[in-house]
Amino acid sequence: MRFLADSQNYSDWLRGIDKLTQDQKEVLFERLKSELGNSVRKANNTVELKVESTVVTKEISRIREIADKPTSPIECCLHCGSTRIKKHGKTRGGVTRYICKDCKKTFSENYGLITHYSHLDNWQWLAIIQGVVLHLSITDIAKNIGTSKSTAWSCRLKIYKTIESIYGHSDTFNNIVEVDGKYERLSFKGCKDKEFFIDTLKRMPRHHRSRKERTEYLDSCNKYRELFENNPSLLKEMIYHSQKRMDGTRTIDKNHQHICILTAIDRSNNIYIEPVTSGTANSIDVYNKLHERISNDAVRVTDDHRSYKYFVRTERIEHIQITGGTYTSGAYSLSRVNSLHSAMDKFISKDMERKPATKYLDLYLMMFWWLQKNKDLSQTQMSELLFNIMTGHVDCHMRANMIPVTIDDLVGRPLPIDTKGFF
Ligand SMILES: [Zn+2]
Repeated sequence: MRFLADSQNYSDWLRGIDKLTQDQKEVLFERLKSELGNSVRKANNTVELKVESTVVTKEISRIREIADKPTSPIECCLHCGSTRIKKHGKTRGGVTRYICKDCKKTFSENYGLITHYSHLDNWQWLAIIQGVVLHLSITDIAKNIGTSKSTAWSCRLKIYKTIESIYGHSDTFNNIVEVDGKYERLSFKGCKDKEFFIDTLKRMPRHHRSRKERTEYLDSCNKYRELFENNPSLLKEMIYHSQKRMDGTRTIDKNHQHICILTAIDRSNNIYIEPVTSGTANSIDVYNKLHERISNDAVRVTDDHRSYKYFVRTERIEHIQITGGTYTSGAYSLSRVNSLHSAMDKFISKDMERKPATKYLDLYLMMFWWLQKNKDLSQTQMSELLFNIMTGHVDCHMRANMIPVTIDDLVGRPLPIDTKGFF
C-alpha cells in the first residue's frame, strides 16, 4: 500500500476525511463501497482494496448491515393485508414471490419499495434521506449523489409520498388541542400552461419580473392583444403592478390566490397539518377535516375566527378562544401551533428554489409531520429510521401500506385542496 501514500492526491484526500461530519463519512463510505463494487464488476478481476478502517465507525457498519439485509419477512398480502399467503416461486431477478389465498393476487417481496424500483444504489438513497433530515437543497442533494437535480427531486418526492401512504393523517386528539390555519400563496411552479395563468389565475407566473418580460410573456400566447381589446385594466395590472399585491390577509378571500393549511397540535405531540382549501377555511371545511380527529373530551384552543365556532358547538367540545392581539388566555395559549408553523416555514422555505408547488404541498407537509413526530431523535437516528422504512424494514401493517410510486403519477395528480371552483 506504500505507493498509495506517496501519491499527493491520495494523501490530500485522507487529510480531508478528518474534517468530514459523521453523516458525510457515512455517505462517503456507502459511495466507496458502491464504486468499488462497480469497478470490480467492470474489471472482472479481484482488486483488493481496503477502505481506511478509521473511517468505519459503529454507526456506519450498522447502516451497512441494514442495507445489505433482505427486507423483513413478508407476513401478509401487500395488496389486501390478508395473512393467508404462501410462497409462489421467484421473479426473474431471484426475488421471492408470494400469492394471496384471499385476493388471489401475486406480489414480490420488493413490491412497493421505491428504493428497489430505481437505478440508484443504497448509498444514494441514504444520502437523499440525509438531505431530507438536514433540510439540504435539491442542488446539494444532487451534488452529493452525483445525479441531475430532477432525479434528486423526484426521488425525494417519492420518499414523501411513501410517508403519506404509510401514515396518512393518523393522529387523533383527546386533550388540550391548539387549532389554527396558516396561509401560503398558491404556487403553480413548473406549470407551463400560459392560458391557465392568464385566463384562470389572472396573473403572471411569479418569476416574470421586468415589464419587458411580462409583455413578451403575454405576446407569446397571443394574450396581449386580446386583453388590450377586452380587458385593458387587467392588462395594465399584469404589466405594471407588483406581485406583492397578492400578499396580506385582507386579500385572501377576494382573490383565492392563497391556500389555508389547517393545523392542530396537542401536548402529546399529536399533529395534524394539511392544506385544505383555497381562500379561508370556512366552518364546513374545519368541521369535515377535524370532527373525526378531535374527541369530545378535548379542549380546543383557537383564535377568534368564526369558522371554529360551528364545529365546537356541533360537537359540544370545550372551546377556549384567544382573541386577536393577545397570545394567551389563562393557562391556554397558541404557542405550540405557532412554533409548529415557524418550523414549517423553515421546512418549506421562503426561498423560491425550495418552495414547493401547491400540487405537492400536502406531501411536503407529510414529510414535515414525520420529522416533527421524530424530532427527539438525533439526525443520524432519524436518517437511519427513515432509511429502514424506505427499504421495507417495518411491521407488516406499515409494509402493506407501501405502494409503488411513479413520478408520472405524482406529476399528473390534481391539486390536493378544495379549490372552491376557482381553478
Ligand atoms: Zn391479498
